Amino acid sequence: MKSELDARGASIKRVANDIVDSRKTIAVTGAGISVESGIPDFRSAGGLWSKYDPEEYAHISAFRSDPAKVWQMIKDMMELVLGAEPNPAHIALAELERMGLLQAVITQNVDGLHQRGGSKEVVEFHGSNQWLVCLSCGYRRESSSFSLEDIPPRCPQCNSILKPDVIFFGEPIPAEAQKKSFEAARTSDLVLVIGTSAIVYPAAGIPTLAKQNGAKVVEINMEPTPLTGFVSDYLIQGSAGVILPQIVEEIRKQSS
Ligand code: NAD
Ligand code: ZN
Repeated sequence: MKSELDARGASIKRVANDIVDSRKTIAVTGAGISVESGIPDFRSAGGLWSKYDPEEYAHISAFRSDPAKVWQMIKDMMELVLGAEPNPAHIALAELERMGLLQAVITQNVDGLHQRGGSKEVVEFHGSNQWLVCLSCGYRRESSSFSLEDIPPRCPQCNSILKPDVIFFGEPIPAEAQKKSFEAARTSDLVLVIGTSAIVYPAAGIPTLAKQNGAKVVEINMEPTPLTGFVSDYLIQGSAGVILPQIVEEIRKQSS
């Protein structure tokens, strides 16, 4: 146990130095960073995703064929998100940005918790729960403008069932988010990959793109991923809500 703690301490110092030395650092985050806010990720046992198989419910063909059924899952997810608060991991990333040490967060999450945690430069790679769109006529409105008791919400222009503006499996990534993310990956020299299983593409390709352009890649995750030992230079294993505040603390200590 003690040697594990020593090893963790050494990694915290190492990543703190890497962040301070870097000219441009970005964070790539996944569902794991919101687990400590009470929003379950896809892979862990229990919770929302044992009730709704993501392959079945989160595919665009499922939405097109039975939107009212998929709205049951969306409602449960939205209720979870409405009740969730940013956790110390979101807050630590916002702090790094304020310190001038983090240039952008590219997130696969649709929960808005980075922004609520104080981050300003956030690219939502898979869209956001905050908007609803009509797939038939393009109408948009804010999710907060309707009651979750009234699902499924309908388009006032054409009566189709509205869809949250998040990317379902089988849909393209929003062009602007993809352009910004790839550009950030190509021009950064340090990427913090936090709480993503790195198996959903093209998001999982962002660290690889950065690496090919000379960036250092550091993973913070509960467990190894396909990037570990291949794309990432090192993994700090553990929960993001513990590790990220420790990194901020270490940087403060070094600069005081
Ligand atoms: P994932 O569920 O595939 O993987 C989560 C990863 O985070 C795993 O590797 C797990 O070991 C790690 N993890 C879990 N708890 C952690 C913690 N406390 N600290 C650090 N790491 C932790 O998630 P993904 O890679 O983001 O891919 C799933 C897709 O599902 C994404 O496209 C995302 O848009 C969507 N999704 C979003 C949310 C959300 O918005 N919060 C929630 C579930 C799924
Ligand atoms: Zn419409």
